[in-house]
Amino acid sequence: MSNYHQNTCLSETTLVLEESINQFIEYARECVPNEACALIYNNQLHLSENKASLPTEHFVIPLSDMVKAYESPTGIQLVLHSHPKSSPEPSPTDIEGMKTSRAAWLIFSIKHQTLWIGENGQGQISRVPKYALC
Ligand SMILES: [Zn+2]
Repeated sequence: MSNYHQNTCLSETTLVLEESINQFIEYARECVPNEACALIYNNQLHLSENKASLPTEHFVIPLSDMVKAYESPTGIQLVLHSHPKSSPEPSPTDIEGMKTSRAAWLIFSIKHQTLWIGENGQGQISRVPKYALC
């Protein structure tokens, strides 16, 4: 778990990993009505199965996926999930999860077609790049 405390450079992450983010958006659309979740580490997108008991309302990334990411050379670069029917702002549960994961998060709203990217509950909303839209 040596990379557990590694900091993530947010702007660099969003720029370099744009392609991964687009892949996630595609995956999130396929997962509707459920929330989709994924991790970016080693500069690659790793899709996860949503293990939440109510996947239309919450998401849970399997612990084994989290451990793999933390133990990878880069550590977790970004935790991603989708909000099928609400805005991209983090829920209270999301903000708690952010503190625990110590990583940057991306939330994609399928309803609003916007992204929230931030850390510790502080973030910014941006439009999905045009080329990410079907
Ligand atoms: Zn959420």
